[in-house]
Order: sequence, then structure tokens, then C-alpha cells
Amino acid sequence: MPEYTICPNCHFHEPSTTVCSKCGTIFEQWYSAHQPLPPREPDAAIAEAVALMEQQRTIELDRWRQAKRIAILIILAALAIALIKLVATYRHLFSNA
Ligand SMILES: [Zn+2]
Repeated sequence: MPEYTICPNCHFHEPSTTVCSKCGTIFEQWYSAHQPLPPREPDAAIAEAVALMEQQRTIELDRWRQAKRIAILIILAALAIALIKLVATYRHLFSNA
């Protein structure tokens, strides 16, 4: 079974291991002229950025929860005031009758 290699220049699957029959790239020359990319390690900067984003999202969610709580309290207070006024009005009406 012949060994296949992928041309680094045109990505042609090449049965020959020395030269690409499609674009003529000599692999040895190509690799000596191009530094292969270093193996990718988990990027510390990306991990840090993701952690920061998650932290900010948590803070944002906390702020939203707090804002919601305050809004509910304001609505409840308004309803309580309205109810008290309503009761007072009815009491006034019925005490005069
Ligand atoms: Zn090629």
C-alpha cells in the first residue's frame, strides 16, 4: 500500500512522498522554507478572557436580579398604597351613609 502525503501547498493527496504532482511543490524545499506551526496549546489569554466574561456575566445577572427585586418592591408598595387609599375611601363613604 503506497503511503499518501498531503501537499502543504495545494493540499493535494499525493502518493509520492517527495514532490506534488499537481503543483510541483518539492516537499523538502517547502518545509525548509516554511516553519511548521507550533502545536497549539490551550491559550492562557483566551482562558483568562473567557473567565473574565463569565465573571462579568455573573455580576450583570446579579444586578438584573437586584433591579427586578427593587421593581417588584416598588410595585408592591404602590399596590399597598392604592389599597389603603381604597379602603380609606370606602370607610369614609360608609361612615357617612
Ligand atoms: Zn501541491
